[in-house]
Formats: sequence, structure tokens, C-alpha cells
Amino acid sequence: MASAVATADVAQAWARVKGALGLEEVNAGVFDGTWASISGREILPVHTPIDGSHLASVALATQDDFERTVRAARNAFARWQDVPAPVRGEIVREIGELLREHKETLGLLVSLEVGKIVTEGQGEIQEMIDIANFAVGLSRQLYGLTIASERPHHRLAEQWHPLGLVGVITAFNFPAAVWSWNALIAAVVGDVVLWKPSPRAPLTAVAITRIVNRVLERHGLPPIFYLLVDEGRSIGERMSKDRQIDLLSFTGSIPTGRKVAENVGRRLGKMLLELGGNNAAIVTDKADMEVALKGVAFGALATAGQRCTTTRRLILHEAIYDRFLERLTTAYRSVKIGNPLEEGVLVGPLISAQAVENYRAAVERAQREGGQLLYGGQVLALPGLENGHYVQPTLIEGAPEMSILCEETFAPILYVLKFRTLEEAIAIHNSVPQGLSSAIFTADLREAETFLSHRGSDCGLANVNTSTAGAEIGGAFGGEKDTGGGRESGSDAWKAYARRQTVTVNYGPDLPLAQGVRFDIG
Ligand code: NAD
Repeated sequence: MASAVATADVAQAWARVKGALGLEEVNAGVFDGTWASISGREILPVHTPIDGSHLASVALATQDDFERTVRAARNAFARWQDVPAPVRGEIVREIGELLREHKETLGLLVSLEVGKIVTEGQGEIQEMIDIANFAVGLSRQLYGLTIASERPHHRLAEQWHPLGLVGVITAFNFPAAVWSWNALIAAVVGDVVLWKPSPRAPLTAVAITRIVNRVLERHGLPPIFYLLVDEGRSIGERMSKDRQIDLLSFTGSIPTGRKVAENVGRRLGKMLLELGGNNAAIVTDKADMEVALKGVAFGALATAGQRCTTTRRLILHEAIYDRFLERLTTAYRSVKIGNPLEEGVLVGPLISAQAVENYRAAVERAQREGGQLLYGGQVLALPGLENGHYVQPTLIEGAPEMSILCEETFAPILYVLKFRTLEEAIAIHNSVPQGLSSAIFTADLREAETFLSHRGSDCGLANVNTSTAGAEIGGAFGGEKDTGGGRESGSDAWKAYARRQTVTVNYGPDLPLAQGVRFDIG
């Protein structure tokens, strides 16, 4: 990709992004309908994980900002819910067009802020455009059912109304796409949105919030996409506790999600939880080796192992175990690690020094628990990128009883396990607390269908001959068990952003009661 080569220099890339997206040295992190002043506020510095250099800063939100922003958002909802859904769809269509116009620079900003390789940064903005397209069509398909009534002259139906104010808390690793899964779908349903991004990626959130609200301004409508940047916890916690947030969509780790769930649950609020994964790929002796290799390598290495859908466990049939591992190790050796803006690099940095520490600790612990280091395991100091956060993708031969196999370490560590029968492979596969994504590589129909059956994968996403990572927006995305049970993005996930109402209309001259109950008065 030509643009990748042209922008491999971090300072140059940042200068280009900053100019094109109108970012400043210090950016307001509060959008309550207008951008709040930065003066007198605490400042959050943003460093790129690529080489540790400082990009810019964002002025943080306070609890007062929360009050004011929620008030503004709720006022905007009063108007937005009256805009007919297909007209809301038209506005989202224009938002999609604006995102397309800014795709390259927004994608580059994602790469700079969180260290994704260029095509992944671009892919994330493409995902926003895709979901915008999906939401436009959806705006004319917000169907309810009509149900046969047991009573004469009665109509029984269900309809869907806007919910109100949807709070969206996002993780660092999908700083753009995950917001759009929520926000653009919520928008066509008739909701307004308050975004609390990760403090690791606030610049992406500032840039997106500026772009998308422009369309509403063009139409003489109040903004519907609000933003509060915090230092990590304060605003997010407030959103989980405050009843004015009608739905809280939370994406993040399981420990944080648990706290959020407790707070939202205490107020009996609605929530969508998209939490950590611990995804496995089973490769059987009937697999197409080339497809399986590519699928496993992409799943384990993409985004430097920092996807919720990253392949973290590889369950290999004993008959192909040595051969497959040999090929995979060769592939690992050939993978270029480094500046993600550089062409050919496939593995960029981890997000932070803490993430590197977590990687190091996990590699050590896995070995203490009996795992055999097959490849990698080293923290890297790359020339010119010494202040970046690079590690070697790692393969560790494990055993199902190792407790670390039940945890998600957000780094490129792949544990390899051996199996003899498919039943055994599925048991290993399902033996972790998380339930997000899963894959089987096999050309055997029986094996594939067994994996997809109720006795197979227990995850929200089950794939055959493709990676655990890299979902399309058309399907509902989310996971079971400790992953939280939420579903976002495509299919009928829009229903989570709406209030369901069952309607009974009696158009007859009598009052027949359901279940044959008699209640004759007079
Ligand atoms: P994290 O849990 O550290 O942070 C997520 C968000 O929660 C951030 O915006 C953070 O500021 C906020 N937060 C922190 N404390 C909070 C509190 N007490 N109340 C409310 N909000 C609070 O996660 P991360 O490191 O940014 O992201 C990585 C994790 O996210 C991984 O576990 C990954 O699997 C998960 N993830 C899941 C999905 C999914 O769709 N299932 C998608 C992306 C990432």
C-alpha cells in the first residue's frame, strides 16, 4: 500500500493526520453540544505505542461535565426520536460518506494511537462505513411482529420505540469500529449516544465526534453524538451508576466488566457487555493445512494478539501435531515485527509498558505451570523504536490443566495443546470461562457440523475453516459465559437499543378476557 510507505515516519504521519483532522496540541475532550474550553482542566497526554513519542493531549471531563452533557443529550433525544426512522437513516448515510472521505487519515490516526498496522487501521474505518450502510437499510426495517390473538376482535402486536440515551464505553483495541457498531445502529433506532472512549485512544474519539456531528448541523438538528474523555475510570463508573443512561454498552476486560455489571445491575439498568475472549482453534487431521496455517497465524498474530477474538489456544490433532507446529514456527520466524506504518510489517507494538509486563509475566507463569516455550518469549528493543512496546510472538506447548489457559493475556501468546478425538478437542475447547469466538479447521463435514452442533463450541461465534478473528458486521457479534452475553453490530442486534412494547387492541363491542377468565360486573 503506497500510503503506508509514504507515512512510515511517525512524526510525518502525525503531522499529516493532525492537519487533515484539525487536531490541536491540546484538544477538548468534552462535547456537550459544543466543544468545552480546555482551560483549567486536567490534561491527558497521548503517546503512540510505536515509538513512545508524544502526539497531543486531551483535556479531561469532570463530573459537572457529565451532568451538563447528559442534560444536553436528553434534550437532543426529545427531538431526534421524532425524526422518522428512514430520515434518521439518510443522516447516517451521509455520516458514512463523510467517514469514507476521511478514511485514510482516520485509519492512520488509529494506527498511530494504538499501533495497528496500516491495513488494520484502515479496516477499522471501513468497518464504520460498513455499519453505516447496514444501519441505513435497517432504518426501513425496524419491524415488529403481529401475533394471532386468542380473543375475537383483538389485535396483538409488538413494536419497538427508541430507548433514550445510550452510553458507550469502549476498549483501546477497537477505538473506532466498536463505537460505530453501537452508535450508528442506536442512531437509526432513535437514540442519542454518549461515548466514553479508552484513555489510550481519545484522539480517535475526538476526531470521529467532530466529523459525525457535522451532518446533524447540516440538517439543522442538535448533535446526537456526545463525548466525555476521562482518565480511565471516573466518567465510566458514573455512567454505570446513573439512571439517566438508559442502556450502557460496555466493551472491555472481564474484571472491569464485572464492576460495570454490578453497578448497572444494582440500579436494574439495561446493559450490553462485550468482554474478554479466550478463543481456540481446533485443527484436525482432515484440515486443509494451508488454510489452517493462514487462519491460525492471522488469528494469533493480527493486532499483535490484542483482539478480543485473538486465537489464544491451538488444539492440534496428534497426527499432524509436529508437522503443523513446524510450519507454524517457520511462519512465526518470518513475520516482520516493527513499526506498523511500514509496509510488510505484520506485528506492531503492544499498547503500553504495562501490556509488555503482562506478556512477560504470562510467559514466565506458563513455564512455571509446566508449559514448554517453543518459540519467542522475548521483549524486543527495536532500533529507533526503543520507547515502543514490542514483544516476540510466542508459542507455548501447554497442558489443559494449566490455570493460565483460563485467562486472557492481551498479547501474542499462543498455547498449543494436543488431542486424539474430536470429543476430547471440544472438551478442551469449552473448558475456559470465556465464550467469545471459536474455530475448527477441517474438510470433514461430520467434524465441522459436530463442532457447530449444540454439543460443539459453546461460543457466540463459531467458525469453520476461517480464523477466530475478523468477523463481518452483518452477523450479531458477542460471546457467552464470562464474555458477557451481549450482541452488537448486525442481524437483529438493533433490538438491544430499542424498547419493546406489546400492544393489544380490542376493536369489538365486548370485553373478552384472556385464558377464559370471567369477570362479570353489574
Ligand atoms: P479495560 O477493561 O481496561 O477498559 C475498557 C474501558 O473501561 C475503558 O474505556 C476504561 O477507561 C473503562 N473503565 C475502566 N474502569 C472502569 C469502571 N470502573 N467503570 C466503567 N468503565 C471503566 O479494557 P482495555 O484494556 O481497554 O481493552 C481490552 C479488553 O477489552 C480485553 O479484555 C478485550 O478482550 C476486551 N474487548 C472485548 C471486545 C468484545 O467485543 N467482546 C472488543 C474489544 C475488546
